[in-house]
Amino acid sequence: MSHVMNTYSRLPVSFTHGEGVWVWDDAGRRYLDALAGIAVNTLGHAHPKLVRVVAEQAGRLIHVSNLYRIAEQEKLADKLASISGMDNVFFCNSGCEANEAAIKIARLHGHNKGVEAPAIVVMDKAFHGRTLATLSATGNRKVQKGFEPLVPGFVRVPFNDIEAVRKVAAANRNIVAVLVEPIQGEGGINISSLQYLRELREVCDRHGWLLMVDEVQCGLGRSGRWFVYQHAGVLPDVMPLAKGLGSGLPIGACLARGAAAQVFEPGNHGSTFGGNPLACAAALATLNIVEEEGLLENAARMGALLLSGLREQLAGVTGVAEIRGHGLMIGVELDRPCGVLATRALERGLLINVTMDNVVRLLPALVISEAEVRQLLSGLVPLIRDFLAEQPTAASAARA
Ligand code: PLP
Repeated sequence: MSHVMNTYSRLPVSFTHGEGVWVWDDAGRRYLDALAGIAVNTLGHAHPKLVRVVAEQAGRLIHVSNLYRIAEQEKLADKLASISGMDNVFFCNSGCEANEAAIKIARLHGHNKGVEAPAIVVMDKAFHGRTLATLSATGNRKVQKGFEPLVPGFVRVPFNDIEAVRKVAAANRNIVAVLVEPIQGEGGINISSLQYLRELREVCDRHGWLLMVDEVQCGLGRSGRWFVYQHAGVLPDVMPLAKGLGSGLPIGACLARGAAAQVFEPGNHGSTFGGNPLACAAALATLNIVEEEGLLENAARMGALLLSGLREQLAGVTGVAEIRGHGLMIGVELDRPCGVLATRALERGLLINVTMDNVVRLLPALVISEAEVRQLLSGLVPLIRDFLAEQPTAASAARA
């Protein structure tokens, strides 16, 4: 019996080492990793420069606590501010904590303005984490069920629907912020239109709300720019980050700008581990290596190649509902549940994931090469085709 708590349905494989987009299991078998630890391993596995930085930092200083100034944290905050246009950063250890910080900033900002019961506009199909506040902000009943009472103060609207937000603005004086993923990851790779992001910025400006963009999964280069909001030419007030920031070292960050950056004062928020020297050194190295190796451009190019390859090779295949993507964040939506594809892919030496029951999700490391994209396509496309050929749905059988 395993003594690990039963919170994941794990696939029957265990990895021992990796290199780039490749990982090996304990039987010596090699896999193409198209998931990168769910958008975490920005630089792939065992990037030699990152390994060197982490080893050197671990040998010097791992942790001291936030009771002292941390040089690595200051440097990382400077770097994050310069690539994002934001003013300052709170460091934590995960995406849900980064969102918790954002929610607390919004509430305190509201109280400071005299709003007694501040509320935040959130989206259908959103995913913000599994703490009580972030699961309450999440737009998926499966994540919430059994954990009621939910944390109050969230008003849900359909994603990509600016009129719904305007209606809430007209009706609800308690709103203080909007929290949105510019690309919903867990929700099935749903991409907000750039116009929607611009309109959200306008609505927030008009009403004095904070625009909070959760770029935990879509941010940090995956879209071909550092952040998805940069494609829209707007700036948020608050941005939670995590996942790809440390390329595998656990680190989260909540960035803030303008008035939002001045909301917290000593005593309002904290984290014992947050922003420790080891995690910050890894994150700073990750950001520098992304720049040195031109990985933003690579993400854009390889993402476009993968997306067009999937669209060409799966064109006209019955059962493929839609293929969506931006950079190296791609979803293939099928017309039927396809969770079994993750296991079948594993059997063929490919790591992928299925989200929302019917969306095959690809989130490879930003270092993926053209040859590896082609290998991914030649593994994945037949897998999807075979799966769809063997299981006609009632709907497609009726049409035939
Ligand atoms: N926000 C988004 C957009 C996410 O995709 C996730 C995780 O999938 C989270 C927040 C939560 O991050 P973590 O699992 O690090 O708490």
